[in-house]
Amino acid sequence: MTKPYLLAESTWETIRAIAFEVAIVPWGATEAHNRHLPYATDTIETEAVAARAAELAWDRGAKVLVLPAVPFGVQTGQLDVPFCLNLNPSTQALVLRDLIESLEPHGIGKLVVLNGHGGNDFRQIIRELEPTTSLFLCQANWYAAADPKSFFTVPGDHAGELETSVTLALAPRLVRPLSEAGPGKARRFKVRALREGWAWAPRQWTQVTDDTGVGDPKEATVEKGERFLAAVTDRLAEFLVELAKADPHSLYE
Ligand SMILES: [Zn+2]
Repeated sequence: MTKPYLLAESTWETIRAIAFEVAIVPWGATEAHNRHLPYATDTIETEAVAARAAELAWDRGAKVLVLPAVPFGVQTGQLDVPFCLNLNPSTQALVLRDLIESLEPHGIGKLVVLNGHGGNDFRQIIRELEPTTSLFLCQANWYAAADPKSFFTVPGDHAGELETSVTLALAPRLVRPLSEAGPGKARRFKVRALREGWAWAPRQWTQVTDDTGVGDPKEATVEKGERFLAAVTDRLAEFLVELAKADPHSLYE
């Protein structure tokens, strides 16, 4: 079966015959994920979520196109962890600007940055780029499309129960036995306001956690991962269908 909503798997003949409405760029990271998940975890997850959501949206008539994933995220707090590969936010802004310029002449009016890494934040970048382009720009964090608390005992931030369950569902051959995983125990900020979260500073990862994980993966299962994936892809598909139909000049009711 052809999947014209996946650019990487499609030919020129297929792509140029379709009037696409929404582009999706999955944006991941390359970073350590405790002792049991691979460096590409965020990229694998985000690309798969984009593909599944795009398929659902396509079946409901939305002309969506998933672009190849960007595999590098912001890792400035993990530069002392071997081979966490950093793209600074200012570099990400330039990458996004160039992608927008490549999309602009081809009639696709909207771009969703589908983010899968906590250190990435495209909001300020979008604020800066939006006035420079005719494309409608937005970001979505796929892991926030459904409430993790109703799917997991302790979802965790990084390589925890949520992420481990999702990776077990998507790429089981890349997951080491959970008996090898560290507990993902995270140290809290000593400063109260930072601990409460209303004051914010990036976390220095190697001071926070001994195994690079934040969140205990031990209760992760394939079934939890599948259920969460079904929920987030359904909500993302609904978003894509609605966005495909939406007039960017009339977004308010
Ligand atoms: Zn991750």
